[in-house]
Amino acid sequence: MTQLFEFDDEQLASKIEKLDLEEADEPEMPKVGEFASSDGVGSRLAKSYEVPIDLPYQAGKRKKKVTDFQPIKVLGKGSYGKVILVKDKSSGKLYAQKQLRKASMIVNAKNYERTLTERTILERVRHPNVVKLFYALQDFDKLYLILEYLEGGELFHHLSQERILSEKIACFYVAEIILALRHLHLHTGVIYRDLKPENCMLNRRGHLVLTDFGLSKVSTESSSLFGTAQYIAPEVIQGERYDSQCDWWSLGAVTFDLLTGSPPFTGNNNKKIMDKILTQKVKYPFYLSQDARDLLIKLLNKNPQKRLNCDIEFDNKRISTKSSLL
Ligand code: ADP
Ligand code: MG
Repeated sequence: MTQLFEFDDEQLASKIEKLDLEEADEPEMPKVGEFASSDGVGSRLAKSYEVPIDLPYQAGKRKKKVTDFQPIKVLGKGSYGKVILVKDKSSGKLYAQKQLRKASMIVNAKNYERTLTERTILERVRHPNVVKLFYALQDFDKLYLILEYLEGGELFHHLSQERILSEKIACFYVAEIILALRHLHLHTGVIYRDLKPENCMLNRRGHLVLTDFGLSKVSTESSSLFGTAQYIAPEVIQGERYDSQCDWWSLGAVTFDLLTGSPPFTGNNNKKIMDKILTQKVKYPFYLSQDARDLLIKLLNKNPQKRLNCDIEFDNKRISTKSSLL
């Protein structure tokens, strides 16, 4: 099998490997495609992202090199990586290329984990509302994820222009987020954890697609604190064990944001926001319909056991993109 790590700097490769082996409490390295079991905290956390990145991945038959893609423009910059619009020189097709510097992975083990997680999850998931990974490539100093190009941009951008969305339009996006999250939870054992408007992008036909899997976990339960303060579930803030229910809280916070123009709890720093999430009641504006209010109350329940579980709730029911069902 051709190695994805094609560069000949063995030292760098071994450094990356070493970093991996030196990770505390990480006993074994499951192979690509092996699912994390949820049979105990140790194995659960250990297996959640430790999949070697030096295995080749390509969705299509043709092998690709980094130089097969011509950079066109910068699409966005996230907390950990740059995303560039690139053109496949042979086919003329456009892709979004997410870059990550190897050097930053060597100094920052968290970045390394994020890249592993993102690549590993995206390799497994095939769903119209989840960004498609076509190739994972590298050159001397960077790793590249060649992703489906989402031409519609961030939902966040559209939201900031409109300020609030009508319930009918919001309902369409919320239904598509539910489809994506249900698929992740039920078919791939992934908790998304980073649901926020910036990570919801639109494709050229206006459908919503989830991107940015750097914070997701391949696991059914977890206990580490990640995510963006305004959309984080209370149980995650408290450092309790949490499961996929935390994504339904975040869906509530995103839906609230879409319908009112801001998330349910705001403040000028993360600590304030998190305190409010734990202690304050949500204030629902008067203009929300009874249905919207009802859905938000059920999703924004601080007790994960009492919170609406859309994995079960919508079983055998069609999730309608018209406003009535949600
Ligand atoms: P990070 O993990 O660093 O937050 P993201 O995956 O969120 O990176 O990407 C950063 C930004 O790049 C996004 O907010 C978005 O504007 C842009 N972007 C990411 N993926 C795509 C894509 N597939 N198509 C178009 N733009 C994208
Ligand atoms: Mg992001």
